[in-house]
Amino acid sequence: MDELLPRWLMLAAGRVAEARERLTDLDAAIGDGDHGINLDRGFRELARRIEARDLPPDPPAATLAAAGRVIMGTVGGASGALYGRGFQRAGDALAALGEDRGDGSPPGREARAGIALAAAVAAVAALGRALPGEKTMLDALVPARDAYAAALVGGSALAAATERAAAAAEAGAEATIPLLATKGRASYLGERSIGHLDPGAVSSALLLRALADAAAGA
Ligand code: ADP
Ligand code: MG
Repeated sequence: MDELLPRWLMLAAGRVAEARERLTDLDAAIGDGDHGINLDRGFRELARRIEARDLPPDPPAATLAAAGRVIMGTVGGASGALYGRGFQRAGDALAALGEDRGDGSPPGREARAGIALAAAVAAVAALGRALPGEKTMLDALVPARDAYAAALVGGSALAAATERAAAAAEAGAEATIPLLATKGRASYLGERSIGHLDPGAVSSALLLRALADAAAGA
């Protein structure tokens, strides 16, 4: 995954900054109105560290572990703990695989990214004690993980597989509108949570779209 992770995180930081108001407005409708502010604080700090060479650019396991710590320490809210844990567990999964020998021996780059994504999604589900359908970020993340895996089985390379994952996450986020929130702050609203996008699902889709764009060389 070489320099893909720092490129992704830089691109994501810019996108999060652009979406800050939108994410905060979405959270104001069914939460406490801090999601965009929270994420922007964390990704701004990630970008600062990358630019200051204060975040290990490789191996990917170290980048993800360090990014997870930054997110955990700066984002705050439910999403800070959930995204932070997701990044950390993705790093743990890559560390357990050992270093990519870079000679094409399995698991290759595409498979490693899929394993990292699956580990991140599993970590969010475990920490959040949530399943898809509960109007959370998992409604974007689980379809993305599955689309990524399906694309790999179909022989796709990284750029095409991350594109499929991003599209699935965007569709999953849109599909949170009619859902009743049963986890997190939005669940306090009960039936009044219906009819709104879940802010965390929207931010997850945004992060996956940035990943696809980074993989495509944007
Ligand atoms: P907070 O709710 O603490 O203010 P944020 O506003 O930053 O935190 O993030 C809210 C988002 O976090 C929600 O839109 C939802 O996607 C996600 N979320 C909250 N609780 C859970 C949970 N238990 N499992 C998965 N995702 C959750
Ligand atoms: Mg909030």
